[in-house]
Amino acid sequence: MKRDGIQQSLWQQIPAFEIKNILPANTVFDVLIVGGGITGLSTALQLQKIGKKCLLAEAHVIGYGSTGGTTAHLNTLLDNYYNRLEKNFGEDSAQLVAQITRESIELIKSNIEEYQIDCDFVEQAGYLYAENEEQVKELEEIFEASNRAGLQVRWVTDIPVPFPFLKAMIVEGQASFHPTKYIYALAKAFEDAGGILLQQSRVVSVDDGEIIKATINEDIYSAYNLIYATHVPPGVNLLHFRCAPYRSYALALKLSNEDYPAAQVYDMQDPFHYFRTHITNEEKFLIVGGGDHKTGHEENTEACFKRLESYCRSHYDIKEVAYKWSSQYFEPTDGLPYIGQLPGNGENVFVATGFSGNGITLGVASSIILTGMIETGMSGEYAELFDPSRIKMVAGFNNFVKESADVLGQLIGKILPGEKLPSFSDLAHNEARVVKHDGHTLAIYKDNNGELHALNAACTHIKCNVAWNNAEQSWDCPCHGSRFSIDGEVLTAPARKDMEVIDLRKES
Ligand SMILES: Cc1cc2nc3c(=O)[nH]c(=O)nc-3n(C[C@H](O)[C@H](O)[C@H](O)COP(=O)(O)OP(=O)(O)OC[C@H]3O[C@@H](n4cnc5c(N)ncnc54)[C@H](O)[C@@H]3O)c2cc1C
Repeated sequence: MKRDGIQQSLWQQIPAFEIKNILPANTVFDVLIVGGGITGLSTALQLQKIGKKCLLAEAHVIGYGSTGGTTAHLNTLLDNYYNRLEKNFGEDSAQLVAQITRESIELIKSNIEEYQIDCDFVEQAGYLYAENEEQVKELEEIFEASNRAGLQVRWVTDIPVPFPFLKAMIVEGQASFHPTKYIYALAKAFEDAGGILLQQSRVVSVDDGEIIKATINEDIYSAYNLIYATHVPPGVNLLHFRCAPYRSYALALKLSNEDYPAAQVYDMQDPFHYFRTHITNEEKFLIVGGGDHKTGHEENTEACFKRLESYCRSHYDIKEVAYKWSSQYFEPTDGLPYIGQLPGNGENVFVATGFSGNGITLGVASSIILTGMIETGMSGEYAELFDPSRIKMVAGFNNFVKESADVLGQLIGKILPGEKLPSFSDLAHNEARVVKHDGHTLAIYKDNNGELHALNAACTHIKCNVAWNNAEQSWDCPCHGSRFSIDGEVLTAPARKDMEVIDLRKES
């Protein structure tokens, strides 16, 4: 199974999903769901089950996005802790957040039971531990707020990882699973219920209206409602300015002994580390995550893996690094995701984004909220809490977007005279660099055969310059998280268009 990077995650070791149902001609679908990750598939299945006629379009293959590069903890204790949520939204809202996360884990459990899904699901406790006095103070606040939100927390004197600590709490009711095994089973259940699934099918443009017309690859499809389950909505939207893209790193380790924790464990460093055990096909792995940074803000992303590995080696006897991978998530400015009607679009266009590091649980939460909104045409207390329009339009926003789009302009012509360019002989094979040349900014990659791949360095979203990600061999936009292959193909939204390829041939 393919993913949006060159590193292989533990979850990719399954055969690609094969489509069963044939697209019926001339259909107006009730709902078009864009994106085949946890959010899209959970929502598509829920809607199809209540009798809606659904079409799900995935630009690549099911699980290609962050769902194929996650670590798959299912949490009620979120990365944006309840003390922060209480402060920003109040005690009642924090309780609602805890409630929807519990409902999401329950929905996963009931799907597993109903469809007999073999996806390594286990329920476990989570531990959060403090290593210094400052962290202890915060942990005490988190404990109190989590308790008020309705989580089952208590203090403990032991933790199941070999790191020194000052104080630790345990929270019951967390879980984990194999994310691609789970969503493949949802995809099958969706098709069995009559849903239509398309892979290698990118939604390239959408015309709003009572009946939405969406261009998928080169064909036009109609639907009464559309949901962007694309992790971040494509195109230019207010939400891009309220969600910061981050990358996070994960290792699946085999240990020389049996020190695998029977729980999920989190430290409080910034960025923090997280640990859990995963047993799949009778093999046991210690999954460790961390090393998070803003997308495009780390010069050597390969070094992030090295740091994470050496941190683990300092306390674990590691036999093998079986898998390593990195992926992206979107951090919302106020700590809560944006789930509901997409600002600036018709009332029948919906979105789910800004999940922070909890998008598996919150993607399922989105399916509950969006299904409710589409079924009843009304918004309940969850929809009000997660309403993407809780952000007021910033004055001058439209001008800002236009100005950003105009900043760099396009390169004049696509062929640059080779003799004027530096030779890039100092660029090693498999190395890349953003260079300024003759007023243009180019993203240059030299492949393993010494061949140069040159692109206009301006991201096609709103023209920020991309940065090289050596670990996943992609060009990543530091502004809003669009990602591109070495030949400029869009890997990750919000960009819709591929980057401009520059031909470096000498002019004759
Ligand atoms: C390293 C790491 C570890 C994480 N660990 C956890 C964890 O333990 N627990 C947790 O809850 N969360 C975790 N997260 C976050 C979580 O993985 C993501 O938030 C979640 O997977 C997002 O799911 P999604 O379905 O919304 O998006 P995605 O899985 O990214 O799916 C979006 C899909 O939309 C498709 N798409 C995009 N544009 C178009 C288009 N125009 N047309 C058609 N298709 C399109 C993409 O190809 C993609 O397949 C982690 C994130 C990272 C980076």
